[in-house]
Amino acid sequence: MNAETGWLPDFLYRNGLFETGIAMFADENGRISRFSSAPQDLETAQRLHRCAILPGMVNAHSHSFQRAIRGRTEHRTNLGRDTFWTWREAMYHAANSLSPEDIRVVARMAFLEMLSSGITAVGEFHYLHHAPDGAFYENPNLLGELVMQAARETGIRIALQRTAYVRAGWRMDPNPGQARFITPRVEDFIADTEALRTTAARLYLSDSAWVTVAPHSVRAVPLDYLREVAFWARGEGMKVHMHVSEQPAEIEACEAEYGARPIELLDRNELLNDGFTGIHAIHITPDEIEFLAKAGARICACPTTERNLGDGIGPADLWTKKGVPTCYGSDSNMQIDLLEDARQLEYHLRLKRIERVVLAPDLNREGLAASLFAHATQSGAESIGAPGGALEEGRPADFFAVDLDDLSIAGAGQSALLTNIVFSAARSAVKDVWVAGKPLIAAGRHNLQEEIVRQFDDVQRRLWTWQ
Ligand SMILES: [Zn+2]
Repeated sequence: MNAETGWLPDFLYRNGLFETGIAMFADENGRISRFSSAPQDLETAQRLHRCAILPGMVNAHSHSFQRAIRGRTEHRTNLGRDTFWTWREAMYHAANSLSPEDIRVVARMAFLEMLSSGITAVGEFHYLHHAPDGAFYENPNLLGELVMQAARETGIRIALQRTAYVRAGWRMDPNPGQARFITPRVEDFIADTEALRTTAARLYLSDSAWVTVAPHSVRAVPLDYLREVAFWARGEGMKVHMHVSEQPAEIEACEAEYGARPIELLDRNELLNDGFTGIHAIHITPDEIEFLAKAGARICACPTTERNLGDGIGPADLWTKKGVPTCYGSDSNMQIDLLEDARQLEYHLRLKRIERVVLAPDLNREGLAASLFAHATQSGAESIGAPGGALEEGRPADFFAVDLDDLSIAGAGQSALLTNIVFSAARSAVKDVWVAGKPLIAAGRHNLQEEIVRQFDDVQRRLWTWQ
């Protein structure tokens, strides 16, 4: 019992409700061991004054290196239309200018910001594998290992979603900007992924860093390759993530190549199941939603990125009605705030439908906030295979404290607290963050914060001198 740690906040969020007068305890392994309202337990627990605690959020989809292009793509690049595709060229510039060490530095910056916003686990969709000219590094997993190292240094849990990328697109010439991503032979991709799993198992606890796979998209991975990777992953019990239907052009190309839309193609080839998460799924039809629902697959929405890139508005109202679970990703990391993704999922639909409270499951006053928050926690954890997602006995003590007196949520009380947090909390409201019972953010700061920010600033200064 000596190694037990306890916390007593004003409010504790579990089972979809805020409770008061209850302390949470964790054992020496950082797992939640019990909850108690016994007077002697309330006495020994660390008192978190004017705080509510909630389970740490799970960011199911991130490309950490893209943190380096934040604020560098919000200007016109031509006299026609700027689109996702013009943005992508700027992203490739950054991807090809970063040294291995820079990639670690930028990942640390992104992970630090995630932790500071209450995110305790991340699914990192990692497709930088090689040198900028496409040459393999002696260790083909050099970059993936550095990203995992960055996660360990900051303390965030990570699913390294090792990404398969094969071609620019059907009948498209190779794009030199993509040389760093490409593994032409599927045997190499699987062997390299196996090697990374072995390294991860040697260096990390299985719930702090693990490896899964992510065929990039139907555009970038031809069907045979995709099937081989996905079936192998399924046999190994690994989650599979894939970008689907982010832009109309990729759907047109898929129809031209295969005579089917992307999710239709995945369904026909038995590639959808409950371990599959489709990223974006913006331009999808009711039939495609049925395929996802039937398979038990889920959708990772990335509204802050999707609005930034002009991708469109995902039909979350339709897929929610059919029972397809949603989770969130910070994706391009132009903004890192999963609560903003949560509220934008709802707000985009309000603007589109000229209607309010679209995704509320019932008449419960906190029902909408509870379901949006469950996407950011439980559903995200299930999507990436993370151990957290809820404050429950046996789960890790991954949680964050919000300051009840933060200007953005002051006066929320108990009855409207979750709605205030989901719809109005500013990042400043997130005060402390724990992973496995260890305080990583204390009073808004990480112990490596200064160093991480300074090194990132140095990389940025070098990267953008040409502008
Ligand atoms: Zn993405």
